Amino acid sequence: MTALLKPLRAAVRDAGGLIYPHPAPPALGEAIEVAPGILWARLPLPFRLDHINLYFLDDGDGWAVLDAGIASPAARDAWDALRAGPLRGRRLTRLIVTHAHPDHIGLAGWLAERFDIPLLIGQTAYLDCLSLSLDPGRLEAKVYRDFYRRNGLDDATNVQLSTLGHGYLRLITPLPVTFERLVAGDRLKLGGRDVSVLSGDGHAPEQIMLHDSAARLFFPADQILAKISPNVSVSPVDPNGDPLGLYLRSLSALRAGVAEEALILPGHGLPFIGLHRRIDELIAHHAARCAALFEACRDRPRAPAELLPVLFPHELDPHQMGFAFNELLAHVNFMLRVGTLQKAPPRGEATRVVAAAG
Ligand SMILES: [Zn+2]
Repeated sequence: MTALLKPLRAAVRDAGGLIYPHPAPPALGEAIEVAPGILWARLPLPFRLDHINLYFLDDGDGWAVLDAGIASPAARDAWDALRAGPLRGRRLTRLIVTHAHPDHIGLAGWLAERFDIPLLIGQTAYLDCLSLSLDPGRLEAKVYRDFYRRNGLDDATNVQLSTLGHGYLRLITPLPVTFERLVAGDRLKLGGRDVSVLSGDGHAPEQIMLHDSAARLFFPADQILAKISPNVSVSPVDPNGDPLGLYLRSLSALRAGVAEEALILPGHGLPFIGLHRRIDELIAHHAARCAALFEACRDRPRAPAELLPVLFPHELDPHQMGFAFNELLAHVNFMLRVGTLQKAPPRGEATRVVAAAG
């Protein structure tokens, strides 16, 4: 374990009061021991969010891996560097994948085969990823184009979204044909640790999170990040779904179930302390966005596409546009459910919403 880096700087506290015990992230191919028997490493991503965090948990005679990375040559190279560096001399015991987004699950099949390790994952994530690899063309299906058109998106953007915007979803390797199912409420023995499995919705269906309450360690995957508000999106396959409502419900459950003092080891960004504070910020962030949409719908009915600049005033590339548009709809669907927006008569094909009176 000589290759491990110790924190280079003392803990930092940001303006919002979150504490970062390890303010300098590990370079690619290196790892930082963030708690006894827990290593933090990073893999590259080809996006503006340019990295994902991986964690290695001491599992007796080797390391259990939390999340896999995206299926890109650069991420594979970074894996090779980790194997030759901080992971040298100890085997990998099992791979735990938190959710089906390609930056987390992309290399799962490759790793499971390469190191002959079992994949532990929620059933929803496994089946989601499997159905996409069996039928990659389904993302260009009519249901997607109709969904965007119905919400008022112009044809050119619709074509972009149905093609370019989905490119990243293909950065996955075929999953192993068997898996070990993780279910909320399970307990996992990892080395000397007794870890509870939690799950939360909103960012991804039944995203798996790990909690070691004795050691006050919590791995929320992408459910809670220090600086970024995790994407919460409506899926065109479940067009009336309420992911924002589910997300807010999950945040309340986590606030009640995980200590404020816990060290939070998220899927992106820096590990931090201050979970409740961060949850309160995220709840306030979504409340402010709902308030802005309410204001924008007060004077007249709007198609959802007209509301995009209210939440996302800057120019968006196709990759960002997909996330942004589906996140806008998450707010609209949530507000329709709680009754602050209501449906207005459609204009042509496009649905419209208006602020509810009273
Ligand atoms: Zn994610």
